[in-house]
Amino acid sequence: MSSTFSLDPGADQLAVRDWLHGFAADVMRPAAAEWDEREETPWPVIQEAAKLGIYSLDFYAQQYFDPSGVGIPIAMEELFWGDAGIGLSIVGTTLAAVAVLANGTDEQIGTWTPQMFGTPEDVKVAAFCSSEPDAGSDVSALRTRAVYDEARDEWVLNGTKTWATNGGIAAVHVVVATVDPALGAKGQASFVVPPGTPGLSQGQKFKKHGIRASHTAEVVLDGVRVPGSCLLGGKEKLDERLARAREGVKRAGGRGNAAMATFEASRPAVGAQAIGIARAAYEVALDYARTREQFGRPIIDNQGVAFQLADMRTRIDAARLLVWRASWMAVNNQPFTAAEGSMSKLYAGETAKYVTAQAMQILGGNGFTREYPVERMHRDSAIYSIFEGTSEIQRLVIARAISGMPIR
Ligand SMILES: Cc1cc2nc3c(=O)[nH]c(=O)nc-3n(C[C@H](O)[C@H](O)[C@H](O)COP(=O)(O)OP(=O)(O)OC[C@H]3O[C@@H](n4cnc5c(N)ncnc54)[C@H](O)[C@@H]3O)c2cc1C
Repeated sequence: MSSTFSLDPGADQLAVRDWLHGFAADVMRPAAAEWDEREETPWPVIQEAAKLGIYSLDFYAQQYFDPSGVGIPIAMEELFWGDAGIGLSIVGTTLAAVAVLANGTDEQIGTWTPQMFGTPEDVKVAAFCSSEPDAGSDVSALRTRAVYDEARDEWVLNGTKTWATNGGIAAVHVVVATVDPALGAKGQASFVVPPGTPGLSQGQKFKKHGIRASHTAEVVLDGVRVPGSCLLGGKEKLDERLARAREGVKRAGGRGNAAMATFEASRPAVGAQAIGIARAAYEVALDYARTREQFGRPIIDNQGVAFQLADMRTRIDAARLLVWRASWMAVNNQPFTAAEGSMSKLYAGETAKYVTAQAMQILGGNGFTREYPVERMHRDSAIYSIFEGTSEIQRLVIARAISGMPIR
């Protein structure tokens, strides 16, 4: 780990960036329009990524622990520069993997994370299922129930999850459910649902505005029985936590704070994805503005167009600085006193929406067609103010952090 924040990621990290850039340019980009149109998981591309070692737990763990502290944002930016829909299909599994890494025992991590990725010959994906039809931003409102069957040492899960990336096509599903509804978010726990478990099925698959190569679906849990060992963290820990919550005992560093710290640490990675989309659109627009001529000169000769590009580039660089700072803080266990992780996701997500819209404008009529990629990038960018906490929720978290007030 690096105790000093630096804007020089170092030679090793730059070599990883260049390697990923090659994959993004040569494999992802040529496939992007096809999988966007097909609205299907691009299994052959994931398989190719697995063969090269880009789709593996080891790869993401190495990036996370890179001494620069910015290994993950650099990797995310390059992959999503390639294509956001395919990028999410490649990194969507990490959502579930992180849930197991954050909450599971060593044994659970060793058992489940390899099964989430499969092997290069037989790739698998995983899904993290928290959101429900009536519980999106308000995660304390989850209705999916987990009831313990002591006689069989099994948990029984019932409920409907929605918006699950890879939901229903995953080998391993991680499901957040309520064990004691009276306790709200404090009464929840996470469970692994192993491959092929009866009772878990895919509901509606959503037809989406953007990131269409990434599969998003409902997951129905109908009397799903999983062994006691599938409760992440184990029963003893859960019972202790529930007992404390029932007594109303507030511990410094309790579950609320731990969950918040996990979000702060994961949000810069999502911000970096948005930066990848923004940078891709900016590059197309810059190139177009230099070569497209109207009134006998390149359109970039007009200050109005050149200033648009100046603003786009400035916002992208500012977003990257926020993302790198937050990522470095997470890797170096710095306290997020001003919700710097949420700040980075908020600004990068809004930047991607702004930059892709400006890029479409600079391309004129061409920008509005599927002949040019900015139309797809604009659609893809829209999710970055919605998932992993909407922009409003990021503002809420930042406002609470800087004010200390329970702002609603
Ligand atoms: C493509 C896609 C992939 C996803 N992948 C996953 C996944 O893998 N796993 C998973 O569990 N979930 C996933 N999600 C769910 C995603 O995280 C939720 O959509 C998101 O949290 C918002 O919840 P909601 O859609 O219910 O919106 P709501 O919470 O209903 O919000 C609606 C609007 O109200 C605003 N709002 C709500 N509360 C407040 C407030 N207190 N103050 C101000 N404004 C507020 C919101 O900002 C938003 O603008 C995914 C969603 C999509 C679309």
